[in-house]
Amino acid sequence: MSDNSLRLVWVYPDLLSTYGDQGNALVVERRARQRGLDVQRLDVRSDQPIPTSGDIYLIGGGEDRPQRLAAERLLRDGGLNRAVSNGAIVFSVCAGYQILGHEFINDQDKQQQGLGLLDVVSTRGEAERCVGDVLADIDPQLNLPPLTGFENHQGVTHLGPTARPFAKVRFGNGNGVGDGFEGAWQETVFGTYMHGPVMARNPHIADLLLKLALDVNALPPADDRWYEALRQERIAAATATS
Ligand code: GLN
Repeated sequence: MSDNSLRLVWVYPDLLSTYGDQGNALVVERRARQRGLDVQRLDVRSDQPIPTSGDIYLIGGGEDRPQRLAAERLLRDGGLNRAVSNGAIVFSVCAGYQILGHEFINDQDKQQQGLGLLDVVSTRGEAERCVGDVLADIDPQLNLPPLTGFENHQGVTHLGPTARPFAKVRFGNGNGVGDGFEGAWQETVFGTYMHGPVMARNPHIADLLLKLALDVNALPPADDRWYEALRQERIAAATATS
């Protein structure tokens, strides 16, 4: 962070932005402004270089072909990896999550190299596509309320020893490999299968990223009433359909 200004980077909106994931950038931006921060939001298209001076990078989900193109371009560019070595925070969803791992299976049924920022490997699930509402308990180390989100993915994700599960599923599939885990995180890099957009359902995750960026333990309270109503509605839906 420089001065009071937060640099928020929304990565490849032209390729990775399904199921309203761009809402994550809106929520992080809004909650930062509500805490008096000046926010510079940069939307970086896939034909532009990734800036290395961002504080928080957000990456959304995508269909299989855009996912392949995004991974190729991010790997060639190298900016996101450099930003993480400088201490940047990354929060990724679904295809974005798979891209941050070591490898995934692409739309041509080939193993494709990811950025290696998370110690995870994604493969194609044998079972039906994982679709539906999810409710999960977030890693107690992160001290956050339960995670609510919507999943829609064929890929499944195995965690290596360095990655910690982001959450433990109560309803739904999450990573989809039978260990009951959903998402992964290590240091300042996070991945989840949750759309929704996930920040609108879980504004405390946006606050976690802001706290990490500001290097503080707490933020001034923000009005959570609208978010809370949405959370309750979606948690009830997850519980009812399971
Ligand atoms: N294409 C990936 C999969 O199906 C990611 C899908 C998504 O981002 N929603 O696993």
